[in-house]
Amino acid sequence: MFNLLVVDDDKKLCEVLSEELNEIGYNADYVTTADDAINFVKSKIVDLMLLDLKMPDKDGFYVLHKLKELDTNVKTIVLTAFADVNGAMESAKLGALDFISKPYDLDELIIAIRKVLQADEQ
Ligand SMILES: [Mg+2]
Repeated sequence: MFNLLVVDDDKKLCEVLSEELNEIGYNADYVTTADDAINFVKSKIVDLMLLDLKMPDKDGFYVLHKLKELDTNVKTIVLTAFADVNGAMESAKLGALDFISKPYDLDELIIAIRKVLQADEQ
C-alpha cells in the first residue's frame, strides 16, 4: 500500500482529500504546516506528497527545497491555484512531478497520482 501525505494549510481540504484517498485504498495522512511535513517524512515512509504551494510562514517551495536537501525519495505533486503558472514552473525545477489546480478534480488528481506511482508498481 502506498503512503500519501497531504500538506495544506487548509485543514478542511486535508481532511476531505485524505479521506477520499483512504477510501480508494491509499494510506493517506495529512499535516497543515511545512515544518510538520518535513518532520513527518523524517520519521515515516512517504511515497508521495500532495503539496500546497501557498501556506503562511514556510510555503511549499520551502518543503521542496528541504526534500532535495534531505535527499529523500518522496515524490511530489503540487496543488496550486489555477493561474499560478510561475509557481508550477518553479516547483517543477525543484522536482515536483505534476501540478493539479485547485479546487482539484478528484478524478484528475487520482490519474496524476497513479501516473507518478506507476514506476513503483511494476
Ligand atoms: Mg494554502
